Amino acid sequence: MTEMINAFKMAQSQFDHVASLLNLDPQVAEMLRWPTREYKFMIPVRMDDGTMRVFFGYRVQHNDARGPAKGGIRFHPAETLDTVRALAMWMTWKTAVADIPLGGGKGGVPVDSASLTVGEKERLCRGWIDQMWRNIGPRQDVPAPDVGTTPQMMGWMMDEYSKLVGQYTPGVITGKPVGGGGSLGRTEATGFGVIYTVREAMRHLKMDPAKSLAALQGFGNVSQYAALGFTELLGGKVVCVSYWDREDRAPYTVTKLDGVNVRFLMSITDIYGSIDKDKASAEGYTIEDGDAWISKDVDVLIPGALEGQINAETVKRVSSRVRLVAEGANGPTTPEADAVFKQNGVFIIPDFLCNAGGVTVSYFESVQNDMNYYWTKDEVLQRLDTKITQAFNSVLEMSEGQKVYMRDAAYMVAIDRVVKAMELRGWL
Ligand code: NAD
Repeated sequence: MTEMINAFKMAQSQFDHVASLLNLDPQVAEMLRWPTREYKFMIPVRMDDGTMRVFFGYRVQHNDARGPAKGGIRFHPAETLDTVRALAMWMTWKTAVADIPLGGGKGGVPVDSASLTVGEKERLCRGWIDQMWRNIGPRQDVPAPDVGTTPQMMGWMMDEYSKLVGQYTPGVITGKPVGGGGSLGRTEATGFGVIYTVREAMRHLKMDPAKSLAALQGFGNVSQYAALGFTELLGGKVVCVSYWDREDRAPYTVTKLDGVNVRFLMSITDIYGSIDKDKASAEGYTIEDGDAWISKDVDVLIPGALEGQINAETVKRVSSRVRLVAEGANGPTTPEADAVFKQNGVFIIPDFLCNAGGVTVSYFESVQNDMNYYWTKDEVLQRLDTKITQAFNSVLEMSEGQKVYMRDAAYMVAIDRVVKAMELRGWL
């Protein structure tokens, strides 16, 4: 999301809309429109060639009424204080809707991490912690990976924090590698979480998953496990997935109308979510243009790649057969397209409900770190299913009870919970 759109203004205006639906006290609304705390700091890093380079780091703690702030650290060239503020605010709503005892935070460094060597990355990660360690912690603020940061980087950050406080403290950060304090099931968490919400939505809409077709955008972490879940957990068919081809620098859709074999496609996909299209076409798959996924004659659309993909233009191509849109990605539907779906009675599972599986398993990771006892993958996924199903049902209940669109209902549930926690703590 670029500075031109100004993500923070967008996050504030979404909040204002729901604050008015909820008749929120203007003073309370003012407290939630802004982050509680913001940090900006300098991180000088010794580069491999011996020179010093100055980076700037951010951490924003939007709200911690329900528990320690929670949210990733992004290393991305377009990062600004406003993108971090917006993402921190969205995390407050995401943890609240998932009903995990955490607040919302986010961090970042404007940098292209691919331009750094391994040693430079490690020194930047340790430098970030050297500046922030007094203001984060398992009971204060728990960062995690995001765009441009990896489990390995979380391992370095956890190590730096543990050294500074003089105690092994794995719960200071989540998304760590398995074997280094990470949780089993984190890889599947977001995609399977998407599918648990799809299963509940289909039950509500009286759709039979075994007779349903889905089209997906993206074939990275979220979409691969969403596709696997749709076929193997629900028994439905995925007719196509799209992806960004790194060689051709263009998007494609890989299609098989009688159903793709998700495990085969995963076996020919690289770590960036780019599919080997020659191997796919040798197996009888059709390779179409990148937009083809959106106009397929299917029952379910799962955008799981980028923001703004279903917009005023592309929404016109969505088949009238589509009854359900599950937002695996963050912000895939623009307000214009949203209005069309609303008018046509398409059921939306909004992003911060649909993709809350990742942060929920991050929370499970810190719980396991606190206990110093680790669950099996099945236990993690079972608990995830319970949490996500409850979250979906509380939003559905709000939507039906107040006769509001699912996206507004999700915001209403989340804001309600945060305000209640603020009241209980005597902040209001
Ligand atoms: P990823 O990098 O693993 O995968 C992204 C996929 O999108 C790749 O397959 C890539 O080829 C594809 N893609 C990129 N540009 C495309 C285009 N123009 N057309 C079609 N496909 C395209 O990323 P991810 O972790 O799967 O995240 C996807 C989305 O889900 C993002 O919006 C992210 O913020 C959101 N999300 C991810 C998680 C998580 O746990 N991974 C949690 C919550 C939300």
